[in-house]
Amino acid sequence: MVHFVGAGPGAPDLLTLRGAGLLRQAGCVIYAGSLVNPALLALAPDGCRIYNSAEMTLEQVLDAISAAEADGLDTVRLHTGDPCVYGAVREQMDALDARGIGWDDTPGVSSFCAAAAALGAEYTLPGVSQSVIITRLAGRTPVPEQESLAALASHGASMVIFLSAGMLDRVQAELLAGGAYAPSTPAALVYKASWPEERLARCTVGSLAAAGEEHGIRATALVLVGDFLSPGGYERSKLYDPAFTTGWRQGER
Ligand code: SAH
Repeated sequence: MVHFVGAGPGAPDLLTLRGAGLLRQAGCVIYAGSLVNPALLALAPDGCRIYNSAEMTLEQVLDAISAAEADGLDTVRLHTGDPCVYGAVREQMDALDARGIGWDDTPGVSSFCAAAAALGAEYTLPGVSQSVIITRLAGRTPVPEQESLAALASHGASMVIFLSAGMLDRVQAELLAGGAYAPSTPAALVYKASWPEERLARCTVGSLAAAGEEHGIRATALVLVGDFLSPGGYERSKLYDPAFTTGWRQGER
């Protein structure tokens, strides 16, 4: 059996209780060493096989899993944040199905949630935006043309851009080309959210590249964009409005 587990954004105590329980029982752990905090490996029992997938191909990962299965050992496949965003998990799940190996998936705290927490931000502010676009700039992995950053930036929604902190010139140019964000629209760079070395750089869309340069942020960071980062300017929620009736509460007249 293989347990895919979201390791969370970095701080070891942001692992879920379920994830911790699975790690404590693992016979084999394969962790994404580029971003998973190695402190989590201390939860694995003595004698547990440990592999760093940053140095492995998909085939080698599958072979390590198959070898563990042959020895009757369960594998925890530990991915950064939540496995469902840029986790390359689907190809593993399909390959495990093809080999007749069972698996399950335990979610984790994605870095886009940890970044909002670090900034004290809410992506979905009434009167500002009710949508969050999670995307990336095309790099060596292509992005479908209709999902180009400029096309997505035409909505003016709250946006989180992964895997692109090394290309902030292009990020900035494409965001502005979308037409909905102004150079003065707030933005932020969040480096290693929840790690001890976390760094935050609040800036604007027009100063993203300069902010990256100034703070030395080139990788392991998220770019957040949108008016949700502005002070004020939003409406209060209906849910907690005294005049609003919900299934749980009668509104005042
Ligand atoms: N599945 C992960 C994302 C993996 S892709 C998740 O849910 O967060 C790797 C990219 O995620 C990095 O290039 C960076 O853009 C972002 N990232 C991962 N951890 C981060 C963190 N702690 N702080 C900021 N960005 C992070």
